[in-house]
Amino acid sequence: RSTIVGSIKGDSKPKGTRAARDESGKYIRVPASTSYAEWYRRYVSTTSEQYYKKVTLSSEKEEVLRPTGIVNFRQVTTQPNVHVAEGITLKPKQLHELQQRLHDAALAIGIDDLAVLPPVYVAAETQLGTNAPALYNWRQDKVYITLSLLDDEKLADLQRDGVLPENCLSTMVHELIHWKDAAGYRKRHPDMAGYADWINQQSKKKIVELAKKGYNIKVSRYAIKSFLSEQFDETYVEIRTLQLLQKG
Ligand SMILES: [Zn+2]
Repeated sequence: RSTIVGSIKGDSKPKGTRAARDESGKYIRVPASTSYAEWYRRYVSTTSEQYYKKVTLSSEKEEVLRPTGIVNFRQVTTQPNVHVAEGITLKPKQLHELQQRLHDAALAIGIDDLAVLPPVYVAAETQLGTNAPALYNWRQDKVYITLSLLDDEKLADLQRDGVLPENCLSTMVHELIHWKDAAGYRKRHPDMAGYADWINQQSKKKIVELAKKGYNIKVSRYAIKSFLSEQFDETYVEIRTLQLLQKG
């Protein structure tokens, strides 16, 4: 009195993307691991402005050193991983967009637990000290972003020297790969001593291996520029950003 049933052992979370429809019935693709609740939250309920919760900031300030000097940040009370610089207004919809992008970028690099991600600091362009819309600081273990990262038109222009400039995730994925590299090293060397040289040499090795296999390592203008200035970690991050986002 028995029957045979199929069994899926281990991690049964599907990878890649699958077809779905948004609230207007338009055909879209979502990560294959998206649950019904998540799909509803993202593509159906979010079309109502009321959905976005008010952004409230902690009264406590955190002083953070930036190239422009000390900048005061306040934590978003409902999203403790997000911090906002004094003088910057993060609208409810922008906060929602940021969380969604962080989540999608994390999934792209194989992370489905947002709690392990580094905190995000929203700051002005000048406070980042670069014209990129985001950067990861491995010494501070913080991701800095500007509001341009949440503005698709501005973003495509700012990402033009990188891989897949039209993909709104490419910069975020790039920065999270930097974070993942640093996190691996941090486990073995909590003080991060020697990291810059180590990651540059490791990346150089990987690039040489890929080139030997015939892989075109000139994936973007930024990748070429970095290679020529021997910032091999940047070139290798660009290569992986392209590989990970093309998989999806
Ligand atoms: Zn980089």
